[in-house]
Amino acid sequence: PNISVPDMLQRTIANYADHKAIHFYGKEFSYQELGAQTGAFASVLQEDQFVKGDRVAIMLPNCPQYVISYYGTLLAGGTVTQVNPMLVGKELEHILTDSGAETIVIYEPLLPVLNQILDHTSVKRIIKVNLEGRDTDDGLVVGFTQFLKSATKLPEPVAIDPQEDVAVLQYTGGTTGRSKGAMLTHRNVIANVVQVYEYFKDVIEPGKDRYLTVIPLFHVFGMTSCMNLSIYSGSMSIMLPRFDLEEVLQTIKNLQPTSFPGVPTMYVGITNHPKAEQYGIDSIRLCNSGSAPMPGELLRSFEKKTGAKILEGYGLSESSPVTHCNPSFSTRKPGSIGIGIPSTEYKIVDLAEGTEEVPVGELGEVIIKGPQVMKGYWNMPQETENALRDGWLYTGDIARVDEDGYVYIIDRKKDLIIAGGFNIYPRDVEEVIYEHPAVMEAVVVGIPDAYRGETVKAVVVLKEGASCTQEELIAYCRENMAAYKVPRVVEFRDELPKTNVGKILRRAIREESM
Ligand code: ATP
Repeated sequence: PNISVPDMLQRTIANYADHKAIHFYGKEFSYQELGAQTGAFASVLQEDQFVKGDRVAIMLPNCPQYVISYYGTLLAGGTVTQVNPMLVGKELEHILTDSGAETIVIYEPLLPVLNQILDHTSVKRIIKVNLEGRDTDDGLVVGFTQFLKSATKLPEPVAIDPQEDVAVLQYTGGTTGRSKGAMLTHRNVIANVVQVYEYFKDVIEPGKDRYLTVIPLFHVFGMTSCMNLSIYSGSMSIMLPRFDLEEVLQTIKNLQPTSFPGVPTMYVGITNHPKAEQYGIDSIRLCNSGSAPMPGELLRSFEKKTGAKILEGYGLSESSPVTHCNPSFSTRKPGSIGIGIPSTEYKIVDLAEGTEEVPVGELGEVIIKGPQVMKGYWNMPQETENALRDGWLYTGDIARVDEDGYVYIIDRKKDLIIAGGFNIYPRDVEEVIYEHPAVMEAVVVGIPDAYRGETVKAVVVLKEGASCTQEELIAYCRENMAAYKVPRVVEFRDELPKTNVGKILRRAIREESM
């Protein structure tokens, strides 16, 4: 439908006013209450020279205030800039200055981080959120509850053009370089919610579902698959501000969510919990895994242990994000990201020019067209030109498609290792290493090598109590993969560096290995 994001909330309020919208540590908010608070937020924003299109940065862990700030900003005609609460220094400064946000809603303990760079940004108003409920104002900084309380009237209606107006500046994770702000219009955001809803219609129960919202909302996956999908379908979002394994398992047991979108590392954690099978995980109808590849071995052990089924999907910030997923209504293919969701066209094209479609089974770059594809990058016309060609989004991901249209992501173009003229896809090597019984997590990168140009290095985390030496792992790889792919170096670590969504930071590992 051609509606704005705040219109979507209004529709749900009309149909499900008394239903619970959010559950947060025992406190619940109905859709009616959410609507009232969103209206208050918008109204106070507008009182202070707020102009349509103004950016509001949100730098919060998952909490009800996130949803209120997000929908309140959009209702006032603004654009949300999502900010990862883990960012510090230059990275944070880049997003704030690039977006030009004048207002920021921030988790109170992060104020010192903001203060260090505040002078370099255009931030003029700081609204701080305190999850313990204390709320005081001091100068430039105002407490969230006080902010809402100062509303004296209903917000002024703002005309929004869903096709053109930018709802969200979604900064990319920056795993490959400088973070770029993908401009997602109201139509992009709504389209993706409706696409995902239509695709999973057979397992979605509007007005009744309970979403376990533990992937962060600042990330586009959480924004769409948890917050917006739950609101669109009049469901309840059970929010947790961080992934704490025990807490997640207890929440599953006590509140019995029906949907749990997650990233592979979360499912790894659960699989390795000694009593995972005792928490009723099999009552979850939708375990959508996305954001990073789900190693086949892990998928199998998770399912065996918990009885729940994982549907792996794929997406990126630039496409709001979902474009593919394994279906709930038809064949699942482990190792594949499934087929295109409704209204999504996709092709695999040659890696050099990106103009010729390659035959079934051959490797190329995935390109995508659909209503969820961004308008462009904010302030980066050259990058936009590279990424969007004739309406097709160039994903930078190498993949192949099978005869049934299922796509297999092989790797990112930028992660490809070229050793002695051979192309090595890190994921191929990782899949084998994951099958070793002592291995919990593994990542493979290319390191400089005087003779071969690059050579393969594996960084591995072993399971608790397990042991394995570099020689043993290399010998195991020799038996299970072509010689040119075998890692020459293995480093064991206690943990791998990860982004806030649990994505392994390959770039950091590569840089540390240089
Ligand atoms: P940047 O683009 O700045 O480097 P990022 O990759 O973290 O950062 P996102 O938009 O968050 O940006 O992630 C999208 C990418 O995640 C995809 O292009 C793809 O490489 C990867 N990805 C997502 N889902 C999967 C999946 N199921 N399997 C493999 N890779 C995936």
